[in-house]
Amino acid sequence: MKDGFRLYDTHAHIGTARHSGRRQDPEMVLRAMDKAGVDRAVLIPFPVVEDFRREHDLIGAAVRAYPERFTGAACIDPFIPEGEFRDEVKRCAEVLGLRALKLQPQYQALNPVSRRSDFLFETTAQYRMPVIVHTGSGVPFSLPSLYILPAQRFPEATLILGHAGGSVYMLETIVAATVCPNIYIEVSSLMPHHVLEILHHVPASRLMAGADLPESLETEMHKLLPLEIPEADKRAILWETPRRVFDGIAV
Ligand SMILES: [Zn+2]
Repeated sequence: MKDGFRLYDTHAHIGTARHSGRRQDPEMVLRAMDKAGVDRAVLIPFPVVEDFRREHDLIGAAVRAYPERFTGAACIDPFIPEGEFRDEVKRCAEVLGLRALKLQPQYQALNPVSRRSDFLFETTAQYRMPVIVHTGSGVPFSLPSLYILPAQRFPEATLILGHAGGSVYMLETIVAATVCPNIYIEVSSLMPHHVLEILHHVPASRLMAGADLPESLETEMHKLLPLEIPEADKRAILWETPRRVFDGIAV
């Protein structure tokens, strides 16, 4: 809670990252959350790991230990055999209670325009898991507009454009969300005036905040508070939208 607003960080990585050497455990994330007044976070594996099943186990344990603070997400190499991919999504959903899947195109070069990517959107929609896509760095497959086609092919799927394409591709994110009602926007890495621009086109009921990493938590979660927008919009972005999308709880 900060200035009377409940805060939901929809983008918090834990585990051990082989690409960056970074290591984070749930307690480190909790400490940063408490310091910044953040109530709840989506825990997401790093994209390059030694054993993704072990990372999922870690997140499952954190969600069980702190159900009031954490929602869990999976991240699975989309190029393993499709049967294995489906089995792990099922295990994450049904055994571990994870509620979203992260797709990280700069390390997982899956072409979202190609029908070859259908299995991913199909499987996650089947288990009602929103797909959080990293957008921005990692072009071309991280271009926000590319997700219009899977969002249209799978209207029952929920897609969240993580980082909103960054400042360079933010306008594409606006186009994608305007065209597809099942596309949501997570605004980490944007400047506050970018968020205002998005709000001219996309309602707060489809926006959410995220930090990515603990050192950005205060900056990212507090940047919306001084904006001159209705309090109801701030409540939606900071708490109500992610609570509905990830936890199925209408506030
Ligand atoms: Zn991320």
